[in-house]
Amino acid sequence: MEAIQNIVEIKTWSALCHRRGRRIGFVPTMGALHEGHLSLVRLAKQFSDHVAVSIFVNPLQFSAQEDLAQYPQDLRSDFALLEELDIDVVFVPNPREIFPPGFQTKVGVSELSKNLCGKFRPHHFEGVATIVLKLFHWVSPDIAVFGQKDYQQCRVIEQMVQDLHLDTSILRGPIVREKDGLAMSSRNRYLNESERECAAHLYRALTLAKHLFEQGERQSDVFIHAVASYIRENMPSGQIQYIQICDALTLEDVVTIHKKCVLAVALFLGKARLIDNIELDP
Ligand code: AMP
Repeated sequence: MEAIQNIVEIKTWSALCHRRGRRIGFVPTMGALHEGHLSLVRLAKQFSDHVAVSIFVNPLQFSAQEDLAQYPQDLRSDFALLEELDIDVVFVPNPREIFPPGFQTKVGVSELSKNLCGKFRPHHFEGVATIVLKLFHWVSPDIAVFGQKDYQQCRVIEQMVQDLHLDTSILRGPIVREKDGLAMSSRNRYLNESERECAAHLYRALTLAKHLFEQGERQSDVFIHAVASYIRENMPSGQIQYIQICDALTLEDVVTIHKKCVLAVALFLGKARLIDNIELDP
């Protein structure tokens, strides 16, 4: 596994792979890797000849009030985990090269960034789309893998690829969960022991909604009410940010479920902001 830190080198590596007719798979991450990230790497390996993983805590997607300074970083452990998966390149760019003084160009996916997390993190998806576009520009991946855990992020990137006619196919990896159902996340490290135990209720709330759906319920307000009640009862210290049912493609709110939707939840528990979702597909 080769560690690359600058743009010229990653472009050279990518050009060489393509000259040899090889397909590049790419997994962008912010590091503090866990089994969720690794599952995406395995998927990338399945669909490409060479895999690059990037590790970059992107300042552009954090607001001033958010956890950029505290965001967990553990490059030693990340490298060890990636070595085991036998990937080709880990790209750890230098923030000063990525965002040099005077940097001012951003890309935004306007409509898909408005709802859900976008309502509460107004410039977040602009930050995500901008860094992903830059990374795609250097790595030139044939395929790139994103986790369904960040559902809105998947849609934003898919739309950007379509709108800008990029030559990268986007694959989605399913949400990887802990044994008790909690969706894995680098930010779960912020939870103390009792919060960690309590956090499992978020997935139980989504499972409850899934049962309602399987029994034929189709009204969004019924799901939202049931999930909110469950969370209030079982996670008394949790602060719900949103519980919404949205069209799986447009991410607009849906009143009655006629086609594939996503039930998405964001809540604060202690210092952690947890997000999770399930699809409801009639
Ligand atoms: P992050 O490092 O949080 O920016 O995540 C990098 C990629 O890993 C994103 O595409 C995430 O959606 C994905 N990811 C994070 N957690 C999980 C998980 N529990 N299961 C599957 N993918 C995940």
